[in-house]
Amino acid sequence: MLNIIIFGPPGAGKGTQSEGLINKFNLTHLSTGDVFRMNIKQETPLGVLAKNYIDKGELVPDEVTIGMVKNFIIENSNESGFIFDGFPRTIAQGDALDKILAELDLSIDIVLALQVEEDELVRRLLDRGKRSGRKDDQDEETIRNRFKVYQNETEPLLSFYQNQDKLVRVAGMGSVQDIFNRLTSAIETL
Ligand code: ADP
Repeated sequence: MLNIIIFGPPGAGKGTQSEGLINKFNLTHLSTGDVFRMNIKQETPLGVLAKNYIDKGELVPDEVTIGMVKNFIIENSNESGFIFDGFPRTIAQGDALDKILAELDLSIDIVLALQVEEDELVRRLLDRGKRSGRKDDQDEETIRNRFKVYQNETEPLLSFYQNQDKLVRVAGMGSVQDIFNRLTSAIETL
């Protein structure tokens, strides 16, 4: 059993690297961003609510996100483990995740934090915006707001997991394969 958090700012490559890690370690993927986007597409009540925040580059409120994650974990708990991608994004979410997992006798094994320079992040996001049609990736102001939110709300989780002795920083620049190799060797030295 291996429970991983893939951590990093918008555009760090969490989704891309998750794909490789899911295949290699047979993990269940939870991308809160993907779940929100699916709900937006299907125009569910959750999607209608989430859209207001996502289009502005704000976070969806904690109680909504945490409730959604809790249901997902309970419904999808499995032998191999989870990879959490885009969650937690606040200290409250990190606390909630620990409690949800503890109730199932589970815990996080490692937090892989991708390190990427900001100019490279903006370049990647604008490029993704052109290809994917994601509205929050098309406007530089929304992107800058997401970085601000990341710095204020999400970055404090680095010390949260450092204090739990679970944080591993991994260079997120270079080829997808090189980054993947760094991530897998961090996991394999566990
Ligand atoms: P990225 O990390 O590239 O910005 P995501 O697909 O992970 O993209 O998330 C897109 C948006 O969905 C975020 O900007 C935010 O509005 C919302 N979101 C995703 N995960 C969370 C979360 N854990 N808590 C609150 N909002 C979230």
